[in-house]
Amino acid sequence: MTPEEVVTVDRAHVWHPYAPMPARVDPYPVASAAGVRLRLTDGRELVDGMSSWWAAIHGYRHPVLDAAVVDQLGRMSHVMFGGLTHEPAVRLARSLVELSPPGLEHVFLSDSGSVSVEVAVKMCLQYQRGRGRPRRHRLATWRGGYHGDTFHPMSVCDPEGGMHHLWTDVLPRQVFTAEPPAGFDAPVDDAYVAELTDAVSRHADELAGVIVEPVVQGAGGMRFHNPHYLRVLREVTRAYDIPLVFDEIATGFGRTGRLFAAEHAGVAPDVMCVGKALTGGYLSLAATLCTSAIAEGIGAGGEVLAHGPTFMGNPLACAVANASLGLLGAGTWPAEVARVQTALRSGLEPLRGAPGVLDVRVLGAIGVVQLDHEVDMAAATAATVARGVWLRPFRDLIYTMPPYVTDDEDLARITEGVAAAVAAG
Ligand SMILES: *Cc1c(COP(=O)(O)O)cnc(C)c1O
Repeated sequence: MTPEEVVTVDRAHVWHPYAPMPARVDPYPVASAAGVRLRLTDGRELVDGMSSWWAAIHGYRHPVLDAAVVDQLGRMSHVMFGGLTHEPAVRLARSLVELSPPGLEHVFLSDSGSVSVEVAVKMCLQYQRGRGRPRRHRLATWRGGYHGDTFHPMSVCDPEGGMHHLWTDVLPRQVFTAEPPAGFDAPVDDAYVAELTDAVSRHADELAGVIVEPVVQGAGGMRFHNPHYLRVLREVTRAYDIPLVFDEIATGFGRTGRLFAAEHAGVAPDVMCVGKALTGGYLSLAATLCTSAIAEGIGAGGEVLAHGPTFMGNPLACAVANASLGLLGAGTWPAEVARVQTALRSGLEPLRGAPGVLDVRVLGAIGVVQLDHEVDMAAATAATVARGVWLRPFRDLIYTMPPYVTDDEDLARITEGVAAAVAAG
């Protein structure tokens, strides 16, 4: 197909994320990607400030990841997981158990982040039933979160600010507290601590679980909070035997400067979801981990965990996930993420106080500029592409989550792209 044909056929038939049909703006056709650059069909190259939605942490066409896929392709691309198993999945499960916070012992593999959250919710519900408490079937969370686009995850997304306000009368009604006070370094707000504790204790006899994104709330608004609130949730949920679920789909694998964001708080959840960067951005794969206590509760009375995706444990995806974890295991990522943090700070801090800018915040390999108005997407995108940078702002947020391997020169380009988007949008 010619590049023009690609765009024409796309416009006629292809739905894109959070888009109307027909789309209002044409997407940019990509021919290939390598390192931290996307190459468009017209030959232009864009430094990717998004890691393809926070997944491609090692960049594109990484030789080690490419080789892992090719090697696995020579053995088998897929086999069913019912009654069968294979080394790529087993190896991956063992690595995740070793790397994740203590106590998480069992791994359920699925195809996407949203499904891993569905599985986490199902684990909580089945755990409560196994413990003889079927009335505990609601979830609690704080506002400002994002947990995916399928229905149960949507019910714990931010009920107002999120993309799911359309569904308020369709979704199960969950228990919400206020959003956590802003700021990773902000002092602990005792009134908020009391609010969290009260909400969980007041609803304890109807709560199946508590689910939050630790430290960074991503697609719900790119907000950071003091890790202490996770310790508060850990204590109160333990007191009432309510499983605590950490959704580390966005934060996992080093993005916040720790391998998992839970480590900032020094607490371990009962259930944890990972996805996005799990395969280094190569293939769709997610996992839900849980403790032995959760597994035993679910299995009480001989019950099974009632879930089993067709492509569960896909060997290609597991093989590239193992290779990605191997790259992380080489141990260079903490220095890389620290370097990215420094570059994002120095590149973005000067925007504080610029016209239209409400806040600038950086944590790990995450840089956010929040405006006092909705971003003009078309103008902001045109401005960044003109500077050779790919960003995808949303709502009032222009942000970057670049691959960890992005060098200082390209990081400077990205922050200049953010500045250009701020000026344009
Ligand atoms: C992206 C995301 C999800 C959903 O993952 P998908 O793979 O898009 O289904 C869930 N939770 C968080 C925190 C996410 O960032």
